[in-house]
Amino acid sequence: MSLFDLSGRVAIVTGGNGGIGLGMAEGLASAGAIVVLAGRNTEKGETAVQRIARAGGNAEFAAVDVTSETSCRALVDQAAARHGRLDILVNNAGTNIRKSPDTLSTAEWHTVIDTNLTSAFICTHAAYPHMKKAGRGKIINIGSMMSIFGAGFAPAYAASKGGIVQFTRACATAWAKENIQVNAVLPGWIDTDLTRQARREIAGLNETVMARTPAGRWGEPKDFAGIAVFLAGAASDFVTGAAITVDGGYSVQG
Ligand code: NDP
Repeated sequence: MSLFDLSGRVAIVTGGNGGIGLGMAEGLASAGAIVVLAGRNTEKGETAVQRIARAGGNAEFAAVDVTSETSCRALVDQAAARHGRLDILVNNAGTNIRKSPDTLSTAEWHTVIDTNLTSAFICTHAAYPHMKKAGRGKIINIGSMMSIFGAGFAPAYAASKGGIVQFTRACATAWAKENIQVNAVLPGWIDTDLTRQARREIAGLNETVMARTPAGRWGEPKDFAGIAVFLAGAASDFVTGAAITVDGGYSVQG
């Protein structure tokens, strides 16, 4: 089997109906995986499914609200039952509420932490028995530059993304002997719905990103296809617990 061949593998990508998640899903589908695109917005989901089908890939949409434990568990168990296996889980769904620590409410804190971090725990917890039974598995968690850096306008987001890296390391350590690899991807500034809103809310953001990113551009969802295939395939079988930046050099600029 080729190091990058995912034929017959089944993947779930939370938030796979748009943005970075769709970029990763398109990579996985192009390598042969059957991809379950999980999100709230059905219209976006169906459009994404058609887009992957037009490119010759195999995808389906599954409705999920990742802030609900019941919904996450149903997503994972139903996908595994439908396809008889679950090989790859991408915990990508995420949100942000941009406020300073002193103005963020407890409810807002929970919204961000539940969406970005607790959902990754629940989906991973639900996926583990399927992977353990199969004797292999790949879990990819999406962090952020705020897994590394701080930002005064994103306290809950930064906490969730720091948590994602440590959760990744914990699972990687726990399950390495069971042939389940768990890694994190830390995107730089990527042009998606999430950051289009940030560009509206934060004056000068576009200029700052362009000046600070050595590649001299915003990332695009398709920049995540390759890392998804690498971390989901045999090529990364001895890579676990890593937090890999995909940021055009943003995090290494002095
Ligand atoms: P998008 O807003 O395009 O995508 C976010 C995705 O998450 C959507 O598909 C959305 O689905 C899904 N989602 C959000 N809340 C829920 C929920 N409660 N239940 C189910 N699905 C949900 O943004 P990005 O593609 O940019 O973000 C994807 C990930 O990448 C996030 O984890 C984000 O933090 C991370 N990231 C993004 C960066 C960037 O520069 N864009 C930088 C660093 C990290 P739906 O529309 O159906 O609700």
